[in-house]
Amino acid sequence: MSSKFSKFLSLLFVDEHNCVVCDRELPKPSRYRICNKCYALLEVIGDKGCLKCGRMMVSEGDYCLDCQNREMEFDRAFAPLAYNGAAVALVTKLKFHGRKYLAQGMAKQMTDRFLEEEKAVDAVIPVPLHPNRQKQRGYNQSELLARVIASDLRLPIDLASLRREKDTLASSSLQGGRAAREENLKDAFKVTDAEKVKGKTILLVDDVLTTGTTANQAAKVLKQAGAKAVYVLTFAGTREKPPIQADS
Ligand SMILES: [Zn+2]
Ligand SMILES: [Zn+2]
Repeated sequence: MSSKFSKFLSLLFVDEHNCVVCDRELPKPSRYRICNKCYALLEVIGDKGCLKCGRMMVSEGDYCLDCQNREMEFDRAFAPLAYNGAAVALVTKLKFHGRKYLAQGMAKQMTDRFLEEEKAVDAVIPVPLHPNRQKQRGYNQSELLARVIASDLRLPIDLASLRREKDTLASSSLQGGRAAREENLKDAFKVTDAEKVKGKTILLVDDVLTTGTTANQAAKVLKQAGAKAVYVLTFAGTREKPPIQADS
């Protein structure tokens, strides 16, 4: 069988018995659908996460350098993994290559990470895409993740209350650092029905937390609409950047 054809088949028939990273047969059913060898290569954040944004830290202490110098609108953010290696590959395949089935195993890792926190939540809200972007892609990867998480946590999913108003540029294409990203995402989100979020604790779900600007802007409008607390859960978070060393 040509590899092109077998690749096509593998897109149609998802084999739950194969590792989503290396595609080798799993010796036993795996909750994350990842073999032990590939799982060992993932960088689990564990207790090395910043107590605010959840990203893996290089510095000592409770908070990353970013969080020491900024106020975020969300209460806490969590991610099981650092955004490296196979985690990047999985997010890329889920987001840009139509591999929607990957959401299942990825979301289980997110659910397990969130359950460690023992936090009570009223509703799950995925970070929405702008309707133009969603039409182009055909789906919202964060919604796929949020559906699995909401079902596992037995929570309602709210797809209507938070909307993306502005078709923002991909933050990766932006020059000019955090200020540019913040300007790009300013007023990007809108709460359609404040009554639905008022007094509620919301679990906001996205695929990756990079600078935290997206989560911050979404949390901001939810809080303005009266949300009691906003937790952010992503599959991966970029590592804290080491402080810039002055040239000697
Ligand atoms: Zn594997
Ligand atoms: Zn932080």
